[in-house]
Amino acid sequence: MAFELPALTYAYEALEPHVDAQTMHIHHDKHHQAYVDNSNAALAKAPELAGKTAEELLKDLSSVPEAIRTAVRNNVGGHYNHSIFWSIMGPNGGQPTGAIAEAIKSTFGDQAQFQEKFNDAGLKQFGSGWAWLALGAGGLQVLSTANQDSPISQGLQPILMNDVWEHAYYLKYQNRRAEYLKSWWSVVNWAEVNKRYELALKK
Ligand code: MN
Repeated sequence: MAFELPALTYAYEALEPHVDAQTMHIHHDKHHQAYVDNSNAALAKAPELAGKTAEELLKDLSSVPEAIRTAVRNNVGGHYNHSIFWSIMGPNGGQPTGAIAEAIKSTFGDQAQFQEKFNDAGLKQFGSGWAWLALGAGGLQVLSTANQDSPISQGLQPILMNDVWEHAYYLKYQNRRAEYLKSWWSVVNWAEVNKRYELALKK
């Protein structure tokens, strides 16, 4: 079954002023759509992989034929990462609650120290990539990845992430990535992040 672009569950302008509507339109409708289309084009060449989910493909990239492995890594990665990214944002940001709030506190000291560490990972990611909060065997960790690489390929469960490709912020923030990273916390959907964390604990 071919991959499809998931619809946003909020309006394009819902994340204003932190993430502007024009960026959301281009980012979701053009960039993410291209990852979907390119994923489907690559996977059409490997019918034996039909029916595999994005997560299954990314967890075991070595099982993808070499001829399309890079295309799958980049484009299925892009589809998988963005699909989660839209879901963990929303218009009613705030502070974390529940299990994720407790885990952040016990792992990083407090919310402010966690956000500083996460923003630093995003700021220091040279070129395009992502900043992540992910769950591994040792608990929660902050990391960054290049391009569309996903922690799921490293055996980690992605809990929360921010896109630091220039396409995610350049229209509004231009070169000011640090300002974008700081402002972005206002649009995090912590209820969804907590749900992801609780599900990841059970895996
Ligand atoms: Mn993006």
